[in-house]
Amino acid sequence: MAGEPQPDCLFCKIAAGEIPATVLRKTERTLTFRDINPQAPTHLLVIPHAHYPNAAALAAAEPEIAGELLAEAGAAAAEEGLSDYRLIFNTGAGAGQTIFHAHVHVLGGRALHERMV
Ligand code: 5GP
Ligand code: ZN
Repeated sequence: MAGEPQPDCLFCKIAAGEIPATVLRKTERTLTFRDINPQAPTHLLVIPHAHYPNAAALAAAEPEIAGELLAEAGAAAAEEGLSDYRLIFNTGAGAGQTIFHAHVHVLGGRALHERMV
């Protein structure tokens, strides 16, 4: 079924609490945690609990959760004291996606004209 947990997916395991992460925010449908290899002073990831391979697939199947992902990204950035930040959705290995569970990167804390991911 669409959105079901996938056995070999790292972010499904983080969403289920089976692999630890530094969690900042949790809602019924999303989780926000720190990236393990930060590319900026603040580098967060917001994921849906449901498994979709990328953000567009999530939005096509469950637009409300896709909207919540953005709202959570904004709320987490505000909690981190960021007024300026960058949201990135890598889609496809050729674009740098390494984990095929939808997520948005929240990057901030230094000049945003520099490339970050
Ligand atoms: P992608 O390259 O797929 O857009 O982003 C995946 C992100 O997940 C990378 O920035 C990578 O540092 C992060 N990441 C990979 N493994 C882990 C992990 O075990 N824990 C956390 N918190 N982040 C991870
Ligand atoms: Zn997954």
